[in-house]
Amino acid sequence: MESPPPIPADEARIQTVLTDPQRLAAVFNTGLLDTPSEEGFDRLTRLAAKLTGAPVTFVSLVDADRDFYKSTFGMSEALNSARELNGRTFCHHVLVSEDALILEDVAQLPVFRDVPAVASLGVRAYAGIPLKTEAGEMLGSFCAVDFQPKQWSKRDIEILVELAHSAMREIRLRKALHEAEVLNQQLLAQVKRVDELNQALSELATTDALTGLNNRRAFDHSLQLEMAVVERRNIPLSLLMLDVDHFKHINDQFGHDAGDKVLIAIAQMLNGCARVVDVVARVGGEEFAVILPNTDADGALEVAERMRTTVAQAKWLAHPATISIGVATLQIKESASRLYSRADAALYDAKATGRNRVVMG
Ligand code: GH3
Ligand code: MG
Ligand code: MG
Repeated sequence: MESPPPIPADEARIQTVLTDPQRLAAVFNTGLLDTPSEEGFDRLTRLAAKLTGAPVTFVSLVDADRDFYKSTFGMSEALNSARELNGRTFCHHVLVSEDALILEDVAQLPVFRDVPAVASLGVRAYAGIPLKTEAGEMLGSFCAVDFQPKQWSKRDIEILVELAHSAMREIRLRKALHEAEVLNQQLLAQVKRVDELNQALSELATTDALTGLNNRRAFDHSLQLEMAVVERRNIPLSLLMLDVDHFKHINDQFGHDAGDKVLIAIAQMLNGCARVVDVVARVGGEEFAVILPNTDADGALEVAERMRTTVAQAKWLAHPATISIGVATLQIKESASRLYSRADAALYDAKATGRNRVVMG
């Protein structure tokens, strides 16, 4: 294609354009630097070589101090390593002019013939089309080279321009995918965080802060659930109400903190006496309740007695503690509140008849 020889950019100008922070950010944000070759780009360089007859074609992204080739076709190892060459490349001139650079015989052209690739690799002809973002940032160029002088035809240039457009489209696509991936990761992290918060919240809503036992709310909920099971399967259900004896004295004598420690220790003992299916709860200040699914009166008395003796025989340091327990086993057609009242009345009897004892309601 006949055209006047292009005017090379001067060194200072090249340096300014190359190191422009906004341009470098745009190059970095492609997410393509140092990524392996991909068919999307390789197809374009392959096509460029096939359609223009140039032996070597490549997509070059120009970083601050190197040209990164995202795709190469026909490039020998020596030419490939040219990107590490210290010095100018033709792509740098494309970057400054922001226009296609078409060189038919670089040997005839001052400055261009001094590009290191000419002496070291024997490059004679070059055609480079700018790769420019929609925001106007120059990323690099879509290039074809020959080792002999080459008269680039109008069609050759049109083909390279088209393929450069396709390369930009590919770059945009890759960037969008990359951003979508980052967003997706952030979203997943947020979902995980929300899950953790929900988990923590629901634990707070069902757990007694001092003892770690079920709280009153969880107890009520569990009792409803167990009542429903009884209705369906016709199996026994028992309930224990427990209250620490003379707990006020423990508080008065040893202090509130010591009282708290007693409550924590008793909670652990009750848990230790219970099965996994039993629901041990703290339902008041020093009052506990235990739901015993699939347990009849004899079984419930046995568990209650075990709990009572475990607490009474525990190796308390300064302040021995005992508990009184009321037991009730669900009767036919009985409601949850009636069962609760009977267990509570039995507990009251245990208190009235001397404490540290188990009474069946
Ligand atoms: P009784 O044998 O009749 O059950 O006597 P009691 O002293 O245990 O009964 P009372 O209901 O008079 O006293 C319960 C005490 O428990 C009063 C209250 O200050 C104390 N208490 C309630 N909640 C807590 C708590 O979370 N920590 C501590 N340390 N004490 C508590
Ligand atoms: Mg009480
Ligand atoms: Mg008490």
